[in-house]
Amino acid sequence: MAVLDLKTKLAILSDAAKYDASCASSGGAKRDSLGGRGVGSVDGGMGICHAYAPDGRCISLLKLLLTNFCVYDCAYCVNRVSSNTARARFAVDEVVDLTLGFYKRNYIEGLFLSSGIIRNADYTMEEMVRVARSLREVHDFRGYIHLKVIPEASPALVNQAALYADRVSINIELPKDESLARLAPEKDIAGIKKAMGAMRLGVEAGREKGRKARPPKFAPAGQSTQLIVGADEASDGAILKRSAGLYGAYHLKRVYYSAFSPIPDSTARLPLARPPLMREHRLYQADGLMRFYGFDRAEIVGEDEDLDLAIDPKLAWALKHRGDFPLDLNTAERERMLRVPGLGVRSVERMLGLRRFKALTLEDVRRLTRGVAKLKPFIVTADWSPGALTDKADLRERVTPTQMDLF
Ligand code: SF4
Repeated sequence: MAVLDLKTKLAILSDAAKYDASCASSGGAKRDSLGGRGVGSVDGGMGICHAYAPDGRCISLLKLLLTNFCVYDCAYCVNRVSSNTARARFAVDEVVDLTLGFYKRNYIEGLFLSSGIIRNADYTMEEMVRVARSLREVHDFRGYIHLKVIPEASPALVNQAALYADRVSINIELPKDESLARLAPEKDIAGIKKAMGAMRLGVEAGREKGRKARPPKFAPAGQSTQLIVGADEASDGAILKRSAGLYGAYHLKRVYYSAFSPIPDSTARLPLARPPLMREHRLYQADGLMRFYGFDRAEIVGEDEDLDLAIDPKLAWALKHRGDFPLDLNTAERERMLRVPGLGVRSVERMLGLRRFKALTLEDVRRLTRGVAKLKPFIVTADWSPGALTDKADLRERVTPTQMDLF
């Protein structure tokens, strides 16, 4: 096997990591300091992505695979053993040095590390833990670390990963168990769920208050997962049902949705085209409705149905439930206000605060939101009532062109 230089490895293994949606590529402009102008460089944005820290800050992470060699053969993955892709592997010290070097130059605030399975799950997890251990214990690295956990690895190794990492993720990949069995036969859904369950218990024990001897911090930023959209026939309703189950059972911080990208030499069992990116976007919006707006999955979309791509899911719900509107913003409860299309959580909180001192007018609503055009058919204020507008047969057409996204 040819010996690859570090830059080539970085190019291959940062590119291979882009399929993991847990943090998005920055897509930043290429800059350098050649010619003695400026300090630092962004060489093609190699491997640097953005993620959100637990306190809401947007941080830059070095996003890498330890290796894209893999003994598994997941049909949807470009790194599967039968794929004809260029391969590379970092040594543990190379990842540590890259992380520290980028960190000291202020390019990044942390590391996102995943890996293909080399030899076996334990060997791979051990290598990833060695990276994190060296960063934390040898170099006193205080930056953010996100480690991908291999669910088949021994619980002791997974435990160590969670003690060094801020966040861990265990990818479930496909929304339906039968799809996982068909397209990723080496993966074991029962083992994935067991690892998520153990992670939940560890995270909760680490946060427990009032214990005299508190356990060490254990993945303080919690756990997340990724679902691939469009690699199998799962409907949006089935995908969101899976997400709702994961949030409920394992208290995940986030479920990420990643539109399937057709890969070279893929099997006939996979679609030839990627799903529309809007599908991914609508799933994120629906996911937000479940997490922050008090919606059940079944209220948003039936189990066998897809989301409407043309309008956001809250507007779609409101158009089907016109009897709940118009809503008087001066008297309505918070929970009902959150269901008004175009009203976000922050806008609702501001309105609740303001209405303690005065009756809300349309101008107040205009100031506290991104615009009232979409809201007007659904609300009543001190100086506005939509009259028959809410029940107009063409209401969808009237609000769709001016529709703004929920978030
Ligand atoms: S285990 Fe991960 S890296 Fe390996 S083929 Fe499956 S999805 Fe790809």
